[in-house]
Amino acid sequence: MVTEAQDNGRASGLRGGLGELCYSSGLLHTLQRLRAWWLKDLRVLAYHRIMPLPDPATYDFDLELISTSPERFREQMMMLRERFRPMRLSDVAQMIEAGKTIPADAVVVTFDDGYDDNYHIAFPILRELGVPATFFVSTGHIDTGKPYAYDWLVHMILLAPADARLRVPELGIDTPVPTEREERRALGTELLSRMKEMDALAQSALIERLQLEWNLPADHTPAECRPMTWDQLREMHAAGMEIGSHGVHHRMLSKLPLADMEFEVQHSRDTLLRELGPAVGLMSYPVGGDRAFDDAVVKATREAGFAVACSYICGTNPEPASNRYSLYRLPVERNMGPGWFAAMLTMPSLMSYPTASRVPAEAQAEPCSS
Ligand SMILES: [Zn+2]
Repeated sequence: MVTEAQDNGRASGLRGGLGELCYSSGLLHTLQRLRAWWLKDLRVLAYHRIMPLPDPATYDFDLELISTSPERFREQMMMLRERFRPMRLSDVAQMIEAGKTIPADAVVVTFDDGYDDNYHIAFPILRELGVPATFFVSTGHIDTGKPYAYDWLVHMILLAPADARLRVPELGIDTPVPTEREERRALGTELLSRMKEMDALAQSALIERLQLEWNLPADHTPAECRPMTWDQLREMHAAGMEIGSHGVHHRMLSKLPLADMEFEVQHSRDTLLRELGPAVGLMSYPVGGDRAFDDAVVKATREAGFAVACSYICGTNPEPASNRYSLYRLPVERNMGPGWFAAMLTMPSLMSYPTASRVPAEAQAEPCSS
C-alpha cells in the first residue's frame, strides 16, 4: 500500500506517470491548443478539503476527503489562471440559459461539504489569485456546526474500543473491529462504500447506533472536522465566491422518501437565500454518483429554483445544456502531482482520476468516489 509519505510529492500509477511525462516534455500546451480547437467542453473541478497532508498514523478522520495540500492547491490555481479560463458557475448557468456556447478552456472550481479549511486555506489563495469558486455546503451542518456523518463514521471506526464489533445486519456485516489502524481505515472505506446501498435514513440510524454502542457521540466537533460558519460564508460570498447547496444533512437524495428529499432540496435553497441573499441557485448532490440522484431529484432541484446541479460522476461536459442538472466533474485527489493535474485538465478522458472498485460506465460517465 502506498503510504502518505510516498504519495507526497509525486504522482502514483500509470496515469500519474504519463501525466508527469507529458508535462515535463512540454507537450501539454500544444495538445491543449489542438484540443480546444475541436472540443469546447466545460470542465468542473471537484475538491473537498485543502489542508496540510496529515500523518495517517495520528489523523483520526477520513483521509479520502483531503483533495490536496495548500502548496499544491496554490500551484493548481496558478496553472488554471495562466493556461485556462476560470469561470463562475453562475456565469456558466447564465450562458446555458441564453443558449450560448461555453468558451474554450473554461474551468469551474467547486468544493463539496463545507469544511472550514475551505475558508481558512482555500479562500485566501483563491482571492489572492482572482480565481472564482463555488462552495457547496450542507446547510444543516453550517447551522449546527456538527461533524459530517460519513467522516464521523470513519473517526468512530478508528477510535472504537479494542473489543468493539461492527454489526450491520442490513449488509450482512458482523466482524470484530481490527486492532491495526491501517486495517481499521480499510474497514471504514469498505463500509462507506457498501452502506451507500442502504436507504439514507437507515444510514443515519446506523451511524447513530454506533455512536451509542461505542460511546463516541458526535455532540462536539473536533477542530479537525469543523464545518464553516455562516459568517465565514458571508465573507466569502461578499468577496465574490459562490455558495451553493449540498443538501441540508448530506444525505443521498435518491435514497430518501420523496417528502424528505424535497425538503433537503427546498430547505437548503431557502436557507441559503435567507443567510446570504439572492443568488443563482447552484446545487451539488451529496455523494453525487449515479446512485445518489435520479429523475425525481432532478425535478425537485429544478422546481426549487436551482439553475444547475453538479454530480460526482467523472467527466467533462461537451454540451452542458443537455446535462445542466447532472454536470460531470473532475475530482482532484491528494496524490496528484502538478503534471498529472495539468494532464487531467488537458486530456480529461484519459487522465481523470481512476476510481477504484466502482463499476465502469460508458465514457465520460464513470462514477467517482464520494
Ligand atoms: Zn459531500
